[in-house]
Formats: sequence, structure tokens, C-alpha cells
Amino acid sequence: MTTAETSSNSWHSIDELATAVRSCTACGLHSTRTNAVPGSGSSKAEILIIGEGPGFNEDQQGLPFVGRSGKLLDELLAAIPLTREDVFITNVVKCRPPDNRDPLPDEVAACRPYLERQMELTDPKVVVTLGRVSMLRFHPKGKISEDHGKILEWEGRILFPLLHPAAGLRNPAIKRELQQDVLKLPEALRQAHGVSSVNNDDEINGEVDTSAPNSLVTQQDRKLNEDKEELEQENNNRPSSQTADAPIADGQLSEPLLKNETTKEEKGDRQLGIF
Ligand code: SF4
Repeated sequence: MTTAETSSNSWHSIDELATAVRSCTACGLHSTRTNAVPGSGSSKAEILIIGEGPGFNEDQQGLPFVGRSGKLLDELLAAIPLTREDVFITNVVKCRPPDNRDPLPDEVAACRPYLERQMELTDPKVVVTLGRVSMLRFHPKGKISEDHGKILEWEGRILFPLLHPAAGLRNPAIKRELQQDVLKLPEALRQAHGVSSVNNDDEINGEVDTSAPNSLVTQQDRKLNEDKEELEQENNNRPSSQTADAPIADGQLSEPLLKNETTKEEKGDRQLGIF
């Protein structure tokens, strides 16, 4: 068994790292994978997108987000508009956990050097996390139901948590949240070009919500929050059985309700779990 930790300094490029990932045996996931999934996209991208782990289709093809979740992710990016060539996409763990279970702590730890080196090599301005588990990697005290779509600062970069696209596939209200949130990504990128020169409490673009540490709130945020409140109000006026928020609430945006998402109809889509 090789140790990713001890080899991380020898990965001088994204391609070298990918080669190492494909032959990695640093955790037990290597024994059940078909293909490792190092990541794809531009190594010079300013936006790094991080999911939890490969699913069935990703494991088969060795590429990230190639199932229905990936199609939705493409649609979300196109709305900005961005393509996969404008970003780099990877996962917290590079090999598929069996039965789409969550990656175990020791697996996340074993794979950590790869993600950390990818961060160094791509040096992104904005880190977009997809779902809860990925967000917690950077924002351990965060709540995905509250923090998705927020522009946060993380170690001199912008952290921009999103709900997981897989959750959007099965819940139209979550999909709408995703569609609204992703529209703030250009603003996150714009702010990222100035964030490294200010502290958490510093004012950026004249507007900082001091009630939310590390949160950079803009007029666009407020407009989207107003839209969200309108949506919530709409839902409140419906019978509870038809209310989008009733099934979503906190719990449905969090990991437990999104585990084991793979069904017969959706065998290929794993990249949910998480989030
Ligand atoms: S999940 Fe990461 S650490 Fe584990 S075998 Fe795959 S590449 Fe190596």
C-alpha cells in the first residue's frame, strides 16, 4: 500500500497527480473501484468544484459528474455561462465508496493529500463545494441548509457552498435553490479577486454582513434572499403536503436523507450522498 501523504511533493502537475491517483492503494476503496476519478477540467481554472466521491457512472468512466447529476451541473454552469473547460471538478475521495455509502473518515484522510495538492496546483480563486460533506471539509461548523449560496471567505479564497445537484434532481424546490444560488457565482469570483487583501471583518465592495462571520453579502444576495423569501411565503400558503419546504427543511438538505440514492432507475447517479 502506498501512502499519498509521503508522495504529495512529487506531483508537479495535475496530470502527474492524476497518474498517481489511478494507481493509488492508500485506502480500502482501491479494491472495489473500477476506475479512480482524479478530476477533470482546466488546471488553470479560477473555480474548483468539489463533490463528495464518484458514483457508478463516474467509476465506470473515470470522470467526475458524468451521470444525471453531472448533466444538471452542466446546465447550472451554462446559466452563468460557464463550461467544464472553465472550471476544474474533483471529489473529496477519488474512488467510489461501495454501494454509494459515504466515505469513511480514514478514507477521506487517506485521500486528503490529493485534494490539498490539487488546491495548490490549481490555486483557485473560488472553491465551490457540492453538498454537505464537501462543504464540511472547509467549513466544519456550517449547515448546508443555511450556508448554501453564501459567499464566504476561506484562507484567502472564496468558499461558495452549493446544494448537491443530485438533491436537485429529486426535489424541484432544491433545484430552484441551486439555480438561484449558482447565479451568484460570478459575483463570488469578482469578490475573490479582492478577498485576499482584506480580513474577515473588512468591508468588501462597501457591503459586509457583520452578523454573519466571513459572509460577504451583496445587493445581489439580498435580491436572491428576497426571491427565496417569496418562494417560502408561497409554500407557506400551500397545504403542508404540497409545501416544497416541508420535505426539504433542514433534514432533507443534509446527508442522511440523501444517502444510498442509487435506485434501479438511477443507478448511475451517486454523487449525492452528501449533501
Ligand atoms: S480514495 Fe483516494 S486514497 Fe483511497 S485508494 Fe482512491 S485515490 Fe487512494
